[in-house]
Amino acid sequence: MSDTTPQAAPTRADWHARAAALQLDGRLWIDGRRCDAADGRSFTKRSPGADHPLPPIARGAEADIDRAVRSARAAFDDGRWRLQSPARRKAVLVEWSRRVLAAAEELALIETIDMGKPIARSLAADVPGTARTLAWYGEAVDKIYDEVAPTAADALALITREPLGVVGAIVPWNYPLLMSAWKLGPALAAGNSVVLKPSERSPFSAMRLAELALEAGLPPGVLNVVPGYGHEAGEALALHMDVDGIGFTGSTRIGKRMFGYAGQSNLKRMFTELGGKSAVLVFPGSDVEGAAAAVAGTLFYNQGESCNAPSRVLVHRSLADQFVQALVAQTAHYQPGDPLDPQAGMGALVDAAHADSVLAFIDGARAAGARCAVGGQRVADAPSACYVAPTVFDQVEPGMGIATEEVFGPVASVLRFDTEAQALALANDSPYGLQAGVWSRDLSQAHRVARGLRAGTVHVNQYNDDDITVPFGGMKQSGNGRDKSLHAFDKYTELKTTWLRIDPA
Ligand code: NAD
Repeated sequence: MSDTTPQAAPTRADWHARAAALQLDGRLWIDGRRCDAADGRSFTKRSPGADHPLPPIARGAEADIDRAVRSARAAFDDGRWRLQSPARRKAVLVEWSRRVLAAAEELALIETIDMGKPIARSLAADVPGTARTLAWYGEAVDKIYDEVAPTAADALALITREPLGVVGAIVPWNYPLLMSAWKLGPALAAGNSVVLKPSERSPFSAMRLAELALEAGLPPGVLNVVPGYGHEAGEALALHMDVDGIGFTGSTRIGKRMFGYAGQSNLKRMFTELGGKSAVLVFPGSDVEGAAAAVAGTLFYNQGESCNAPSRVLVHRSLADQFVQALVAQTAHYQPGDPLDPQAGMGALVDAAHADSVLAFIDGARAAGARCAVGGQRVADAPSACYVAPTVFDQVEPGMGIATEEVFGPVASVLRFDTEAQALALANDSPYGLQAGVWSRDLSQAHRVARGLRAGTVHVNQYNDDDITVPFGGMKQSGNGRDKSLHAFDKYTELKTTWLRIDPA
């Protein structure tokens, strides 16, 4: 007889007990094995939620990157993965996805302990999103056909896609598993070998993800993971002469350097997913409460540490007071709490240095004359210095730092406008172009404004909806190329033409 008693959801105490029992392993993953850095060096970081040190992390550097690239190159050249049929690669990726879901609680815990996001979000979004990404690219790869060009009768011209070779994936700390999966899914499905460099601020889940890949049948050497600092491991990967392409997600500042590394080395393909300062435009007649809830739902999600956070809200002057009131009311749902508490509305920022930088933007906004409607401070009596209250600034002017720079924290800026043309000009007056949102019940206005916005994604009358089926990426200094959807294969494949002459009989 099977036990059908429903399992109670884990409580905060349960999660703390599991966290105490968790074995974190910060060693490198090369050739299907754990190992230490070649020079034996390591570094440590603290868990932001509780401010306790985590186990040592191997400090990967040039020699380790070289070893990982050589392992990936050997795997690529002997075809142990690249030459497997698409159907076989699909089976491995689908099995990997299944194993990610089977390890959901462990992976969610690693993510939460490492970078401070609420356990409920890690479990409901980051882990299933990672699993879905891996399965989706696996499922896609045996359904994509190549092309035959419309040549004359004396020729057959085949246009085929080939994997790039060895791909370097360099990812940030805000969604460690998911950002890795957005690179690994399409790159591995296409038959490449990959060297993954996770952020020094949240490295633990990447190595665990790679272990699960091996268990699912990915041959050793096809995926190697080298944790370490950006200026050491990251730079060595980007400069490596035997890396064919890089998928980079991170800040615009480092993204600019990445193109320099490509130029200084072997002109490797360089694709970047960078920062944002996304604007939401709220027009008269629209659902103000709905707009405030959607802005809060994305901006305060993940402690504001999201590239697509709608941190600039441009509201028609006639609605602005009502909107600010509604957004302030929303902050009640996003009060920071222990990330291991399943009820926490928001977690801790990734570390104290980042919290300091967010607070410096807040101080700057006050000094510049913006009005802090709610929040605006570090949470007193919290277990660490990483908790910042959800914050709304009203009466923000376009030139203020808080309106132009990526804060990457739970801070909203509300600006007022009078006309549609002024709103569009304000929204587009940014070096970034990642995402934007429009709230309008006027169909023509919604389309007109959506067309006018220079952003990779424009949300209309919602901001939170998303799916692996649509491309994700930015215009202008928010990057080039796209993650997600079938378009991501463009980054990890080369087009080849094979022209055959057909002789007459
Ligand atoms: P970051 O640029 O500081 O670091 C990103 C990665 O690059 C890390 O792994 C880091 O170690 C590495 N790195 C740093 N210096 C390097 C160097 N000189 N050479 C090679 N690698 C180097 O960014 P971050 O603080 O980790 O992440 C936050 C940023 O990421 C924000 O700007 C955010 O908007 C952006 N982001 C963008 C997207 C997107 O899809 N557009 C998604 C998530 C995050």
